[in-house]
Amino acid sequence: MSIASHSTAPGANLLFEHYCEEPGCQEWGGFGHSPSPAVPTRWWCWGHFPYKTYEQEQAFRRKLEASERGPAQ
Ligand SMILES: [Zn+2]
Repeated sequence: MSIASHSTAPGANLLFEHYCEEPGCQEWGGFGHSPSPAVPTRWWCWGHFPYKTYEQEQAFRRKLEASERGPAQ
């Protein structure tokens, strides 16, 4: 058995994988929130992200609808 293909490049350990922190959720945590630089950022998927604003949600919905309709041009 070899794990030679596993990345050992410098800095690889710094690439922090952050999935949604909601228990049982397997989504990628693409939406982070931290109240201050001293507090580690917490991550959620869009569906569980508790800090989204009404405007953000509307913008996200427009983006979703646009992608469902296909290219705008
Ligand atoms: Zn989630």
